[in-house]
Amino acid sequence: MRKYRLMVIKGDGIGPELIESALDVLQAVEKAVGGFQFDIEFHEGGAGLFKREGYAFSEKSLMQASEFDAILKGPVGDPGLRLDDGTEASSISGILRNGLDLFANVRPITLLPTIQGVRGGDSEDIDYVIVRENTEGLYASRGRGIGNDRVMNDILMLTRDAVERIARFAFKLARERSLKRTSNTATVTCVDKSNVLRTMAFFRKIVTEVSSEFPEITLEYIYSDACAQAMVLSPEKFDVLVMENFLGDLLSDLGGATVGGIGLCHSGNYGSSLAYFEPIHGTAPDIAGQNKANPLSQIRCLELIFEKLGELDASAKLYDAICSSLKSGKFTLDGNGCPSDGTLKATKSIIQCL
Ligand code: ATP
Repeated sequence: MRKYRLMVIKGDGIGPELIESALDVLQAVEKAVGGFQFDIEFHEGGAGLFKREGYAFSEKSLMQASEFDAILKGPVGDPGLRLDDGTEASSISGILRNGLDLFANVRPITLLPTIQGVRGGDSEDIDYVIVRENTEGLYASRGRGIGNDRVMNDILMLTRDAVERIARFAFKLARERSLKRTSNTATVTCVDKSNVLRTMAFFRKIVTEVSSEFPEITLEYIYSDACAQAMVLSPEKFDVLVMENFLGDLLSDLGGATVGGIGLCHSGNYGSSLAYFEPIHGTAPDIAGQNKANPLSQIRCLELIFEKLGELDASAKLYDAICSSLKSGKFTLDGNGCPSDGTLKATKSIIQCL
């Protein structure tokens, strides 16, 4: 029996209910596939801890994180809990990403069966990945903006090392994706605003340099504003998109909206060996505790965890079960991207298809 240690952070808002769904599904996949077992350890992080202790994630949990095979994290934070400077107090994404140097945020944007795509069809060819640099860019200014009551300044900072490693990550991912497909074409699209900002021109230059290490992969360029339009009008042309942190945050929510909503979108945050997995969205306080949230964003994190651990049968079986549950008509979405019959029944319908 292969044993894995999984750190689980339930988070805030809809986090605990999403994690409950994902853990029920995990247990069902374990039974259905066999041969491996997850040992689960809960660690607290987010608003509750911040209110009690004044920090959102403990040093101890951060130190222990690297001992785990993977980390499953629910959305974290409380939009009402602000620091004196007006920014949110209880997010732990920055702590994990920078603290553990998880530099590559991978956000798959895929249209699942029966889900209506951005142009109104359910068989549109939307299957690409946003690779967002996680440790620098505009968000590196978090907590460091300088100013006073009349002027405020955040700095967009990029280093050559960080751009090189995220570019290499994107090209390698494009190569892996092409090996899984029958057609061997692979494209990396560099998304930037290099016509305006020097940092972005720097980003484009370095991505271009790194591309010479991957001659079989086509490199394309698009400005971020044009990219927003293309994600809606011609998403089928994308394979792997690589971009700076802030742009990646914005454009991945747009990508989510083109495939049924952010409630369907999962992500992985990868370093050299450790990784954590979470929905791309926030804590959705407007629907928390009402059995309304779409659990797919959290459940699909398991696919990435299985892939990371080499449990490829489990990943494929879970994906197939999700598709079957949607096709069976037992798991449908309302106009807001929430499961029509609630979180619990949607979860059950996936488990029944395993
Ligand atoms: P953050 O900045 O932390 O990402 P946010 O302010 O962008 O958070 P979200 O919490 O992501 O906001 O919510 C945005 C909208 O998406 C809300 O209307 C919310 O209800 C909806 N939403 C988010 N997650 C889900 C989900 N899993 N299922 C259904 N709707 C969701």
